[in-house]
Amino acid sequence: MKSDIEIAQSAEMKEITDIAADLGFDRDDIEQYGRYKAKVKLTTYDRFLKRNDGKLVLVTAITPTPAGEGKTTTTVGLGQALNRLGKKAVIALREPSLGPTMGIKGGAAGGGYSQVLPMEDINLHFTGDIHAIGMAHNLLSAVLDNHIKQGNKLGIDPTNISWTRVVDMNDRALRNIVVGLGGKAHGIPREDHFMITVASEIMAILCLANNLKELKEKIGKIVVGYNYDGKAVTCNDLKVAGAMTALLREAIKPNLVQTLENTPAFIHGGPFANIAHGCNSIIATKLALKSGEIAVTEAGFGADLGAEKFFNIKCRYAGLHPDAVVLVATVRALKLHGGVSLDNLREENLTALKKGMDNLAKHIENIASFGLPLVVAINKFPDDSNEELAFIKERCWSIGVAVELSDVWARGGKGGIALAQKLIDILNKNESNFRYLYDTAFSIKEKIKLIAQEIYGADGVDFSKKACQQIDKYTESGYDKLPVCMAKTQSSISDNPVLKGRPRGFRVSVREINLSAGAGFLVPLTGPVLTMPGLPAQPSAELIDIDAAGKITGLF
Ligand code: ADP
Ligand code: MG
Repeated sequence: MKSDIEIAQSAEMKEITDIAADLGFDRDDIEQYGRYKAKVKLTTYDRFLKRNDGKLVLVTAITPTPAGEGKTTTTVGLGQALNRLGKKAVIALREPSLGPTMGIKGGAAGGGYSQVLPMEDINLHFTGDIHAIGMAHNLLSAVLDNHIKQGNKLGIDPTNISWTRVVDMNDRALRNIVVGLGGKAHGIPREDHFMITVASEIMAILCLANNLKELKEKIGKIVVGYNYDGKAVTCNDLKVAGAMTALLREAIKPNLVQTLENTPAFIHGGPFANIAHGCNSIIATKLALKSGEIAVTEAGFGADLGAEKFFNIKCRYAGLHPDAVVLVATVRALKLHGGVSLDNLREENLTALKKGMDNLAKHIENIASFGLPLVVAINKFPDDSNEELAFIKERCWSIGVAVELSDVWARGGKGGIALAQKLIDILNKNESNFRYLYDTAFSIKEKIKLIAQEIYGADGVDFSKKACQQIDKYTESGYDKLPVCMAKTQSSISDNPVLKGRPRGFRVSVREINLSAGAGFLVPLTGPVLTMPGLPAQPSAELIDIDAAGKITGLF
């Protein structure tokens, strides 16, 4: 089998104007970035908003393992399969960050015969959105330090600043730094930090803004730190929301590309799935809904994080009403949840698989609790045995859950026909009774407890003294009506990464609660959260190369 990049490079792409025309956009509706990428103008978006919605399908997964689950691959393949069945499906995905592309995980443009193109461009800078977000973010950092240096009229406490700096690279040496060294002319020394750009609140805001006006309003509300009286200092206090939004005037426009089978895909925004909500922009999802019959989109990590936040945060802010869920599971990951080590995943092991099914079962229950119908997609890997695949199917049937094999990685859209057909059946039956898990009017503690108990299956939640003090502070300042965006390990349904399968008899600990006042959510931290990843001993960057003709190799 060819590598991802070999498959991508041998593909025949259509001109992006043709892809756009299929969606009902003419040449003036888009701004071309070369022949194969375009941004959609906001005026076009406004016009399309008046159209009826198609159906909204969320692709999510069981609890992730290092074995890889394949949500993006399934999303792309399913979109391709739906189009093969004559349904106008449009895909909406996140933009890849350079950190993982150069680090361990690699790119995020799908895999095998289910990829978005041009794969090199999408994985390397794309249309520059993430850079623009980094610049808008760092403008605020520069203005903040300048304000302190120029006399600090706002009385900002340099030891109580929450706004960091960002760069879109895995660079652990920048996690904890000191800025303002060198003497009086160079600013006031203070401890500072770098995060990876996709962890920036600006990224979350861009993805939750319905338009330019909202983008500016949300940016203005960002809390950068506190003054000496403990009062919040906002971006509006520093007067640069306008300039920051101006820097984002292109980034806010959704990017249009195509898949290996010429299915249209909007790739736009890519917030972290722990300290942020992990979904592509509202604008891209809405445009997919307005320009196609079925919008297929993905949320990061497992369903306990990605899907929960998609429903309770993104759908709430966008007024979206999802119609169905595709829950991706793999034999390998389920065996891992059943106790098999990473090295032994190739061997057939029905006993472990049976045990690991508990993890799938919990995610199925959770999705049902949002009132949504679902189909389990078994993402087929080369080593899976027929017995193992049949076992998962039978188990799902026995509990009345729709399930189909997905072979889109090896076979593209053809490998997803059965899954697509099943999804169409579900959509035709119109079974969605979508509801949020909580009312935002509930107290902060109530909201967190509901998620921990209902979604994670915890017995209860323990709040640290610091978290309780923060809750009091946020409640006094009126931030208690925001939805919560849980920052939790992705490796377990619980807050303890080593508990695989379906953990029971545990309590969740909340040690701290951050405020993202601009994005519009509170972030309870349940464990250590790394907002600046590091590189491994052998970063993927060592494999990537470009020849004299400009051909790139080694990207995956
Ligand atoms: P996710 O979106 O869940 O993080 P991706 O779709 O990006 O997962 O897939 C992760 C990696 O696994 C990619 O490198 C992809 O090519 C690979 N992959 C996905 N599905 C399969 C499969 N069925 N067989 C082999 N490799 C796969
Ligand atoms: Mg993905």
